[in-house]
Parts: sequence; C-alpha cells; structure tokens
Amino acid sequence: MRLRSVALLLALAVSASAQPRASAKRLLVVSVTKGFRHKSIYVAERLLEDLALQSKAFTLDYARTDEELAQKMAPKALEKYAGVVFASTTGDLPLPDKDGFLAWLGRGHGFVGIHAATDTFHGWRPYIEMIGGEFERHGPQTTVSVLVEDKDHPATKGLASPNDVYDEIYEFKSFSRERVHVLMYLDKHPQTKAPGFYPMAWTRAHEKGRVFYTALGHREDVLQAPWYREHLLGGVLWALGR
Ligand SMILES: [Zn+2]
Repeated sequence: MRLRSVALLLALAVSASAQPRASAKRLLVVSVTKGFRHKSIYVAERLLEDLALQSKAFTLDYARTDEELAQKMAPKALEKYAGVVFASTTGDLPLPDKDGFLAWLGRGHGFVGIHAATDTFHGWRPYIEMIGGEFERHGPQTTVSVLVEDKDHPATKGLASPNDVYDEIYEFKSFSRERVHVLMYLDKHPQTKAPGFYPMAWTRAHEKGRVFYTALGHREDVLQAPWYREHLLGGVLWALGR
C-alpha cells in the first residue's frame, strides 16, 4: 500500500514536471552558411538557448552542417518542428526539398529570420517573397535611431523608440511595404542621414505560416543587449503562434 502510494506520487511528480515540456514546441535553428559567415552566429544560438530556458515555451534543435540540414529539413522530419530559425544563414543552402519547406511553412508553421537570413537564396524567388525582402548592401557599422512602428506587437512591445543601436545596417531590395507588416524602421538613411524609409524588422503571412524577420543582430553585443532579447523572444513566440 505504502509502496503503491509512493509510486503514485512519483508518477504524479513526473507528469507534473513533464507538463511544460510536453506543451513546448520544437524549433530548428539553422546556421549553415554558403557565403559570408558571421562570427556572431554562436551568440545567436546561446541567446536562443537562454530564451528557450527562460520562456519554457519551446525547445531547440540545430542544423549546423549540410548533413544535418539534409536530415532535419527533409519533409517528414520538418513535421516534428513548430518553427525554423535561420540564424544569419547565407547563400544557397542545400535544402533537401525547397518547395516542401515552403509548403510546410504555409501549412501553419513559423519562420524566424535573423540578420543575414535575407542574404540567403538570392536566386530562389519564392524564398525572397516568403521572407519579404532581399539584402542589397550595407555600409560601415554605424549608430542608427531605430523607430518602433507597431508598439503592440510582442516583438516590439516595450522597446524604446527611438532606440539607438550601433550595428551593421542592411538596406533591402525586393521589398514592398504593402507586402509586410513593419515593426521597426529608420526614417533616415543609415549613412547619409537623408530622410527616407528603411525597414529594420517586419512580419508577414506565408499562407497560414507566420514569418518574422529582424535585420539587426550582426554584432555580438547587439545580440546580447537586453532590448534585443525581448525583441527576439517576442518574435519567436509570435512565429510559434503563442
Ligand atoms: Zn552582418
């Protein structure tokens, strides 16, 4: 009798501690590069690990090599994940099934792009259309005043506006303001300071899929800044539909 109640208590304790994990969503972090490789990628990975532990809302898996990419992004394998993060990927990644990846996203999964995710797949238009913009150029690292467009979105809620950030600042082509929901932007050219519109983070829908992209996060100290932590966590949770 006593043994049985101990066993019951243990079973209860195990199921209670398993609760957050059971509801946590799996996120695949892709950091394969075929062009420039950012040395800050490992900082982005550490940050995502911290955010996973802090939020208990998702767990992480990684695709760091071509082999892992082939294995974990095969159509069947993708079904295990709620979302994918492209952490400063560059160039033409050897995805096992490119169309299958976009179809998976369109069925209601999440995509998070960090910084060079828009410097990826320049020759594959459906990807550029999915992410909503294409890296065109950057000048020397500089301080910009980032403005928040949507103060209610989880990725930008509570952020200072303007928020002065020293980073490498991307300019985009293949971008149309009508095709995305802008979260953050600059109202001046990053180098010349001439008035203009320069998007820094946005979301969009890819059919039923949720796409979040932030251009910031070249530098390690930007990825480590408290505001960036909140920004990325909000973006990830939103992409996961939480
Ligand atoms: Zn960069």
